[in-house]
Amino acid sequence: MSGVTFNRNRVRLKTVLGIRARLTLLALLLVVPLMLDRVRMLEDFRAKQIAQAAESYANLTSHAAETQREVVSSVETMLKSAAYIRASGGIARSCEVLRASLPTNLPWILSIMFVSRDGLVQCSTLNVQVGLNLGDRDYFKKAQDTRSFVFSDYLFGKTNGRPMMMAAYPVAAINPEEDAVVVAGINIDWLSQIMANLGGQPGMSAVLVDSTGVVIAAPADHANLIGRSLDTIPLMSAIAEKALSYDAPSGSVSFTASDGSDRTLSFAKISGTESRLIVSMDEAKVTEAIRQQIRTAYLQLGFVCLFVLLGALVGAEKLIINPIELMTGMARRFGEGDWSARVAKRKLPSEFVPLARAFNAMAAQLSQRERELLASNDRLTVMASIDVLSGLANRRGFQSRLDFEWMKAQQYDCALSLLMIDVDHFKLYNDTYGHPEGDACLTRLGETLSAIAADTMGFAGRYGGEEFCLMLPNTDAAHALAIGETVRTAVLGLGLPHATSSHGIVTVSVGVATTKPNDVQRPGDLIEAADAALYAAKRIGRNAVVEHGAVKVAGEAGMALAS
Ligand code: GH3
Ligand code: MG
Ligand code: MG
Repeated sequence: MSGVTFNRNRVRLKTVLGIRARLTLLALLLVVPLMLDRVRMLEDFRAKQIAQAAESYANLTSHAAETQREVVSSVETMLKSAAYIRASGGIARSCEVLRASLPTNLPWILSIMFVSRDGLVQCSTLNVQVGLNLGDRDYFKKAQDTRSFVFSDYLFGKTNGRPMMMAAYPVAAINPEEDAVVVAGINIDWLSQIMANLGGQPGMSAVLVDSTGVVIAAPADHANLIGRSLDTIPLMSAIAEKALSYDAPSGSVSFTASDGSDRTLSFAKISGTESRLIVSMDEAKVTEAIRQQIRTAYLQLGFVCLFVLLGALVGAEKLIINPIELMTGMARRFGEGDWSARVAKRKLPSEFVPLARAFNAMAAQLSQRERELLASNDRLTVMASIDVLSGLANRRGFQSRLDFEWMKAQQYDCALSLLMIDVDHFKLYNDTYGHPEGDACLTRLGETLSAIAADTMGFAGRYGGEEFCLMLPNTDAAHALAIGETVRTAVLGLGLPHATSSHGIVTVSVGVATTKPNDVQRPGDLIEAADAALYAAKRIGRNAVVEHGAVKVAGEAGMALAS
């Protein structure tokens, strides 16, 4: 039972794993590893690109921070120089020197001013600032308190209300007896310009924020953020929170933002200030290009797979399945006996041509064999119905011809006559002249009968031994009787010596029977009737012709009745 199930499963498996399926499987086995390898390479590339982008942005961040630091440091240097000037001379003289020596190559310095202890601007490179009171500014107080360089947070200028930053350096840091403070106004537009190389990149946002998280500078594409607190900007608040919560001077951190985007954050503190440069990178946007490439690669690979599969299927169909089906069709036709079927070699792939050639050769040979077989069958059939000695039909051949003529005569309602002819005293003939001579005699008689049959449209046969018969289609009794007489006289005419016969030569006795075939009679009845007439002819002395049922008996022996 289990054996049967196993076999059935095996057959089912074989059907499923036909040539098409196997070739498809093979094609997949070839293509899929390549496809997977390519995908793996792309995914690796993507990860590398993210890492590279993060690294290059971190470098950019620190580079930009470095540049910012240089700005701050140049401001600090300027303020310290001014503080020296202030420390070494009175206010009037210091102001003169200050105005004369303000470098023009530091465009981010808007103005430098000397501020009194209580915050009053005593002199400035910008006259409009003279007389302003900066005493309320935190950076000013802090510079006085700490006696060191201070960089302010983001603020609005007192004269023009423009966003700016201030730097302060107390002269007391150089000469403790001096209480003035050197202050510089910083143009934050310049900071933004310095950050220009951090802008214009998809998925990137770079901002310089002060200690409170207000954006001081940003590349041109994020200029609208300047002056805004990061807390008020969606997404940026989380970024600010992350960047500002780290005390380290620089670093980077990855996190998932509230919109679900994976972000990498690089930040660097600008030394000497509380400002931080923050560069945030949206991994998805930065890797958009490579993701696009990966998508395209997947599509390409999908198409390649599809084409390979289609190719495998079409190839299998054209190169294997079709030729096999063609050959199978040919073999089936051969099996049905159609030997004319030939495989068209030009339709086949070259590998199948030898097989097709062998097939065709086999078909040609089988066809030739069949022709020979048919011919030899025909010969055998003929031989089986011919008597070699007399050259006439034998009893079998005669019988089948009689059946045929019987049917024909019945169909056309014609008369059919039969002559039974027996050699008289033939035993004696053999005894006298020997068996071979007897054979020769039978041959002569066969020839004679054959000629008469040809003349009378009859059919002659050797019924057995020395007994012959002549069938006469469409011949009535009178005509048949006449032909019987022709036979008898023809044999006499041969004049074959027969010393032991009372006639001295070979003679024959003939029994004639005629009928119109019908459903009641059988061909055997006609033979019996002719036989009976022959018997009558023998009885009346041989060398006679007797018609069955008639009283008329022709021949030397005169008249006799056949019953
Ligand atoms: P009847 O006149 O009454 O017919 O006498 P018959 O001797 O012809 O008849 P019978 O039946 O006694 O003998 C027939 C003989 O024919 C006997 C047999 O040897 C001979 N015979 C039969 N077939 C052949 C043959 O093929 N060759 C030869 N040579 N003789 C044959
Ligand atoms: Mg006989
Ligand atoms: Mg005889």
